[in-house]
Amino acid sequence: MKNDEDMSSDLTQVSQWLAQAKRVVVFSGAGISTDSGIPDFRGPNGLWTRNPLAEKTSTLSYYLNDPEVRKVAWEGRVRNFNGTAQPNGGHHAIVRIQNAGKLSCVITQNVDGLHQDSGIEEHNVVEVHGTIKYGRCWGCDDRRPMSEFIARVIAGDPDPHCELCGGVVKSDAILFEQALVPDVIDRAFDEAEKCDLLLAVGSTLSVRPANQLVPRAKAAGALVVILNGTSTHMDAFAHVVLEGSITPTLEALVAGAEFPT
Ligand SMILES: [Zn+2]
Repeated sequence: MKNDEDMSSDLTQVSQWLAQAKRVVVFSGAGISTDSGIPDFRGPNGLWTRNPLAEKTSTLSYYLNDPEVRKVAWEGRVRNFNGTAQPNGGHHAIVRIQNAGKLSCVITQNVDGLHQDSGIEEHNVVEVHGTIKYGRCWGCDDRRPMSEFIARVIAGDPDPHCELCGGVVKSDAILFEQALVPDVIDRAFDEAEKCDLLLAVGSTLSVRPANQLVPRAKAAGALVVILNGTSTHMDAFAHVVLEGSITPTLEALVAGAEFPT
């Protein structure tokens, strides 16, 4: 850990870079949403720590083959679909980067849709692990808002299937064993290589291939800043590592950049 003085001069440095940057890419992980009440996966209060069955609902083969696993998954979606999770100050700080005309895009490993809810333009959010805001048929690929499926579960169908082809419906988030969408991950790498400042926030950067954005951005000449509550797998590639609370640190970084209001 750095002392307070070093941390403060790092913050000043990164704020200056933000003020000077023309193409910022923010790469976010679960840590940016914990202040919105969304638990991460592997932490002490993480989803999988508390309920091992929940890990099965996140694994494609179990999900496709076991109606009981799907039932548990749908129960969880109904519980979580109450719309109470709101973007926090960290999400809003990123909106200020966008409003200053400096944001190329947000690349996120999160599936919660909170960047869009905070005001990042839809086409500027690259969701490498998909989204829970939509459901998708495994059979015919039909995609529609999750709210439609939630309504069917509440109406008494514990495992709603596709009304077009009868296929299994899952959320449009990428599960374990499921391939990423090539166009989406390609765009993420492309954006990372074109940016002049990559800000990785709230991720331990342990999940491939998304974590490879960090070395790729650096190799292409970008400044790389990592902000997380703990050390990450990619710290060695960063020009500055900020280890601390995510929301207040993001707010301080953006305030320090003194964007015109
Ligand atoms: Zn279908």
